[in-house]
Amino acid sequence: MALGKLLQGFGSGAQDAPGAAMSGKQAANINSADRMRILDEFEQSGIGWVWATDADANLIYLSQGAIEALDIDPSNLFGQPIASLFESDPHNPDVRADRPLKFQLRAHSKINDIVVRFVPGAKLSGAHRRWWQMTGYPLLDSEGNFLGYRGSAKDITVAYERKLEDSRIAEYDSLTGLANRFRMERKLDSTLAAYKAAKRACALLMLDLDRFKHVNDTLGHQAGDDLLRQVAQRLREVIGDRGEIGRLGGDEFQIILPDLDDRGKLGELADKIIQVVSQPYPIEDKRAVIGTSVGVAIAPYDGLEREELVRASDLALYAAKNGGRGAFRFYSADLCDEAKEREELEKDLRKALEDDALELHYQPVVRTKDNMVVGCEALMRWNDEQRGFVSPGTFISVAEESDLILRLGEWALKRACLDAKEWPKSVRVAVNVSAVQFADNGFLDAVTQALDESGLEPDRLELELTESVFMGDSESTDSTFKLLKGLGVRIALDDFGTGYSSLSYLRSAPFDKIKVDKSFVDSCTQKDQNSAKIITAIIGLSEALGMETTVEGVEAFDQFDLVVSKGAKLIQGWIYARAMPQATLLERMASGDMKIKPDGPDRHRPERRSVFRRVGVIHDDHRYEGVMRDLSKTGARIEGLLGVPKGTGLVLDLGGGQLAVSVVTRSSDASIAVEFEAPLVSDGAGGLCTRHRVSPYALAAAGMPLTTLPPGNYPLSQTVGEPTTKPQFMQVAVAR
Ligand code: C2E
Ligand code: MG
Ligand code: MG
Repeated sequence: MALGKLLQGFGSGAQDAPGAAMSGKQAANINSADRMRILDEFEQSGIGWVWATDADANLIYLSQGAIEALDIDPSNLFGQPIASLFESDPHNPDVRADRPLKFQLRAHSKINDIVVRFVPGAKLSGAHRRWWQMTGYPLLDSEGNFLGYRGSAKDITVAYERKLEDSRIAEYDSLTGLANRFRMERKLDSTLAAYKAAKRACALLMLDLDRFKHVNDTLGHQAGDDLLRQVAQRLREVIGDRGEIGRLGGDEFQIILPDLDDRGKLGELADKIIQVVSQPYPIEDKRAVIGTSVGVAIAPYDGLEREELVRASDLALYAAKNGGRGAFRFYSADLCDEAKEREELEKDLRKALEDDALELHYQPVVRTKDNMVVGCEALMRWNDEQRGFVSPGTFISVAEESDLILRLGEWALKRACLDAKEWPKSVRVAVNVSAVQFADNGFLDAVTQALDESGLEPDRLELELTESVFMGDSESTDSTFKLLKGLGVRIALDDFGTGYSSLSYLRSAPFDKIKVDKSFVDSCTQKDQNSAKIITAIIGLSEALGMETTVEGVEAFDQFDLVVSKGAKLIQGWIYARAMPQATLLERMASGDMKIKPDGPDRHRPERRSVFRRVGVIHDDHRYEGVMRDLSKTGARIEGLLGVPKGTGLVLDLGGGQLAVSVVTRSSDASIAVEFEAPLVSDGAGGLCTRHRVSPYALAAAGMPLTTLPPGNYPLSQTVGEPTTKPQFMQVAVAR
């Protein structure tokens, strides 16, 4: 259509259009040819362009200059819906750009200075990508029917790109391209405010990298930067468009995940992040390995405002790091005390070492073909007066936070060599070596000294290392390995398959043995057949490489038979023996060589944790107090209620807003077994939690003030009102 004809449209019968103004007095003096000429001159001046659509919003006119600027065949333009040709920029830093072009076109509303780009050209980058500012008016006839748009546009690419760049600098981290702290704060503030109104949930993940400093120190800052960029890219791949990722500075990352409060899914996601980030990174011609820990907090349960939620996720991260790195952790109200507890623990552990209150116990490693004990692993034991037995999983990770681990490690080496000296010569001793200790300059001296002082033959000492010894600096790792081999000691790779598991370690490091981690044995007889395959593969692999394999953690005969059938020749597990003190071991060795017959349950039962925890038991509108004795993913055993028939439906209040709908499957005396309607999920700390919690919004609706969830149980009266029926079961006291 010619421009002249279109312009006539502006003058006749159209209201509220730019052309309409010219149809007034002044325009009366100008004939239509003059108007044409003026508009032609305007178009040619490059100040701006003119566009128009028909009543279906298909493009029917565009200035020649604009067509040339787009560098496109006009036949691909005209007759096309304008909404398919142009789109507004979703990343426009200008808040006014919130309503997209499509939306405005559909509503036939006025288009005011919207920044758009040409869709077929959107993939172009840099100089080829053009940004236009578009203005348009709906043209209506006298009855108010929409006739089409008339509008103008101009190219604002240079100014707009600059604006984008400025906002990128202000809101994005220049190293990784992720959002920066400022943007994350703003985003979290606005999300939480909007979600509070809409009663929606939002998860916040806090991550920091384990051993990043080591890479920076040993490989240089350039390598550190490169690593951070690669981490950012991996995070983007895992998260996709599910949420926003930011780098807050250093090696700290944060992820906002709107509408996610399922702790099962969040745990899986956190696990995936840990796995992906822990894969080795190619950096220049080297390889770096780092890990990450993740803290998770969820609004509205753990925090309603940004500061609260961030603090909760920080505490969860701290707990995750301390609980042994490479782990995730959900926030829970009792984490606040944990930080303090760990400080105390370190102090007391230091004292225990000074007072000679630590012990080494020895767990036999048995040759399956003749049940002969061929070695023992030294496992550290700490029985604290106040705390009772503290698991090495806990205190070793506390010790690793400081130089205390070096002293503990040195002590263990000495003690183990001295003790082993009293065993038959055919029995080796295995000592665990922390990665921190391995990387320490004094490590070789400590090994040499332990051997010298005890007089133990070097090949009777086996050092158990985990894959985390392969940190950033491969050169010093290699030389430590060589020197150790020079001493004549044996080296085992512990917990194989749980860490970074790269086959190249096996090729490059001189291992004499691989220890298959207990986690594979735990699941090998379950439906998960992969574990059995992995065990077979590891045994085959180590044999091919001329190494021995010990399978750890065999407890029951079904596991035993399976791993033996897969070729396991050495087994260390409760089916043979638990760790025992030196004195017990010596007694059993007294008659010469030590043999143990396997003994244990026929079938492995997934771990039921023995616990003592007060829980609420809700039936009808009554709340009873129970004591939980066992807890597994699928059920629990509760004591304290008499006369509960099998099949009764109950709700367990596990605290912190966790309600588990359950049904009674067994009942005898004051003990009942219940099965959960929905299985519990891992809490990231070896414990279990419900997927969902009672929402503070729901509690607020029931009359409680809107706050985050308090740690304790909820009195029934606050959640369901006063009871209206008589209690049906008798409450009895339970002793610890
Ligand atoms: P690890 O080196 O992998 O030791 C094996 C762990 O599995 C031990 O746990 C052992 O008691 C347990 N275990 C063995 N067989 C079975 C079984 O059949 N069933 C079950 N449920 N468990 C079994 P423990 O003693 O709690 O030690 C945990 C970890 O603490 C060790 O894992 C090791 O990484 C660390 N650790 C222990 N002592 C020392 C030490 O002296 N120095 C260092 N650096 N770490 C130590
Ligand atoms: Mg070990
Ligand atoms: Mg192990």
